[in-house]
Amino acid sequence: MSIQSCLSWLVDVKPSSDRVGPLVVLGLINDSVHSSGKVDTALDYQEYPPGVIIVPMRSRTTKPFHTTNLVVFAPESVKNKCEDYNFVAHGDALIVDPGCRANFHKELLKVVAPLSKKLVVFVTHHHRDHVDGLSVIQKCNPNATLLAHKNSMRRIGKGDWSLNHISVSGGEDICIGGQRLNIIFAPGHTDGHLALLHVDTHSLIVGDHCVGQGSALLDITSGGNMTDYFQSTYKFIDLAPHVLIPMHGRVNLWPKHMLCGYLKNRRSRELSILEAIENGAKTLIDIVANVYSEVDRSLWIPASSNVRLHVEHLAQQNKLPKEFSIKKFQRTCGVHFISRWIWAYLAAELSVTVQEPTYTQRY
Ligand SMILES: [Zn+2]
Ligand SMILES: [Zn+2]
Repeated sequence: MSIQSCLSWLVDVKPSSDRVGPLVVLGLINDSVHSSGKVDTALDYQEYPPGVIIVPMRSRTTKPFHTTNLVVFAPESVKNKCEDYNFVAHGDALIVDPGCRANFHKELLKVVAPLSKKLVVFVTHHHRDHVDGLSVIQKCNPNATLLAHKNSMRRIGKGDWSLNHISVSGGEDICIGGQRLNIIFAPGHTDGHLALLHVDTHSLIVGDHCVGQGSALLDITSGGNMTDYFQSTYKFIDLAPHVLIPMHGRVNLWPKHMLCGYLKNRRSRELSILEAIENGAKTLIDIVANVYSEVDRSLWIPASSNVRLHVEHLAQQNKLPKEFSIKKFQRTCGVHFISRWIWAYLAAELSVTVQEPTYTQRY
């Protein structure tokens, strides 16, 4: 971030616009966080916090998003603050979550090629929209080192990455151009999900734990877990970062507000699930139909994963009523749910088709 752009942020700030954080001021007074100039891409990108470049790249992500934020960190001036720590990896540049679609691989190559040969690649988790560009980096820079959790590494194919890699589990530090980044184990979205704290600016790269708008989905097929999700959220709140950098959507300058909002929404959803159970719902379809009655039935499938995760979380906290059998509930989560969902879906479609003539006749 240039001194001129920091000044513009401060001059243009209005009460109703986005908050301008202390990092803009930091950008004015601290030239050590400058990145190594602009990244070479025709795509729009931003540098915020100073020194952290974020390039939204088209990816195989899910709606309402279309892009995954590629984070590039390549400090210009090297500090000597790394001596007192044991680092799991050293490098001159770092990129996080290269997950763009194949037709954007050329763009990715343009970003990666000018970076130092001592490149560290960090992936927050294994989902395709976070690792689709790994093979391009491997080809362009065979000396690069990949860091990922072992649960993610296991799911990343050999075709994506077959060279140097280090399994990390949280707590380790990375040294990039003399600056320290701390790896944080943050399971919940998946069982191998990691976050990364840039210590100098106290900005937290949160992977898919948070998203720019709406709430993050948990992947039940890859060890997604609600108890872990709550614990990781508490961990992030304790860290009190200045900025949250999600991999989808915009940077968030009110981390506490966002994280507490997530907790509030999850607790409120969990309460309505508990109420449905206390009112007699015993099967997955009963609970989904009760809690998501206002929601389009085509969305009941992802909603059902959410319900399962909340029910497991309630069971772990011993909050479920005694007469509710978790074993019987689990037996209703497979074919039982799908067959009843198809029936409910068709019934809704049919009622719309039947009602339509009446509606038309009125006009
Ligand atoms: Zn994900
Ligand atoms: Zn994602």
